[in-house]
Amino acid sequence: MKKKIINKYMKFPTALAAAKGGAALAVEWLVPLLDANGKDDALLLAAADKKRAETVGDSVHLRGLIEFSNYCRKNCHYCGLRKENNKINRYRLSKEEILETALKAEKLGYKTIVLQSGEDLHFSADAMSKIIKELKNKTKLAVTLSLGERDEETYFAWKKAGADRYLLRIETTDPVIFKKIHPDSDLEYRKNCLYVLKKLGYQLGSGVMVGLPGQDALSLAKDIIWLNNLGVEMIGIGPFLPHKETPLKDEKGGTLAQALRLIAVLRLVFPYSHMPATTAMGTIDPMGREKALQAGANVMMPNITPTAVRPLYEIYPNKICLDESADKCFGCVTARIIGLGRTVGTDYGDVVRQIRNPKLEIRNNKDK
Ligand code: SAH
Ligand code: SF4
Repeated sequence: MKKKIINKYMKFPTALAAAKGGAALAVEWLVPLLDANGKDDALLLAAADKKRAETVGDSVHLRGLIEFSNYCRKNCHYCGLRKENNKINRYRLSKEEILETALKAEKLGYKTIVLQSGEDLHFSADAMSKIIKELKNKTKLAVTLSLGERDEETYFAWKKAGADRYLLRIETTDPVIFKKIHPDSDLEYRKNCLYVLKKLGYQLGSGVMVGLPGQDALSLAKDIIWLNNLGVEMIGIGPFLPHKETPLKDEKGGTLAQALRLIAVLRLVFPYSHMPATTAMGTIDPMGREKALQAGANVMMPNITPTAVRPLYEIYPNKICLDESADKCFGCVTARIIGLGRTVGTDYGDVVRQIRNPKLEIRNNKDK
């Protein structure tokens, strides 16, 4: 007997209507949106841009990114900072250098800094707590951490020291892909880090890379459902960009179009989330960040790392903005935002805690 093939996915117009109407999350409508092309793709991006304007509005929040150490104990197959890459020079900023960079950022008008690094145990629970406390004492900045996987005690110490937010991308929730690209990480452990961060009261950011080997729209749809269950408030998306000193050097990598579609779907699914137009999008296309801001994104993360070490934080190749000083970057990014008819956020850009449709539970969404 011939097997009947039933396409369980909705047609694009029905799928878009489901997204706009806040339907319960289901791969049946997420997949056709993530696979949209041509006119459908344009309709999806426009719907997300409209939703962004209605929910989080026109302001774009700036987060100053300080990449303070490129040492890493891990060997993720995609990342140029992986431990076994001995072609890069390693650096660490001192506590004083981090503070000085943060003070400069605050003077320029930043309200938030993001401290990011490889998984560098030199910055122990104690050492990092001291830095966070000093930052909170000397500035009014919101402090976001992105230091990878640590144990609960450490996350607790940093929260107690005053850290406000944490970014930890899950990268992919597909157990097969995750295992293939992470020789020394465990998907369940990483998920648990996110649950712990949530429990400890951090404003929580996660996200995925797009275009990983073996990843398809169904896999991304499942990621979205997982992110929703986690209760994520900030979502970082970027195309995977192959780095020549890594095992994935010969892979194709992600495209801007894939990343834009994912951002658009995420904006429809998480209307009040904070989503950056990431540097990886600006790397793949000179107008990539602008396009992301017009497809649902509402955050930018200018690099304020001291220029002397900036080129050494090469997670992927050809990173943009390697030699502009922090004030030049601020000016450039502001001009790009204004060029789109948008405004630069003047408050702290705290998360709006959301439960999916229809009511919102607002948390900390006011000036401090
Ligand atoms: N060590 C921390 C934070 C630094 S890496 C961590 O891993 O969480 C920050 C992000 O860079 C990672 O979450 C990953 O999504 C992204 N990244 C790493 N290598 C990349 C590549 N080759 N292309 C695109 N993004 C990459
Ligand atoms: Fe290290 Fe993060 Fe790069 Fe993995 S992605 S090698 S943990 S810096």
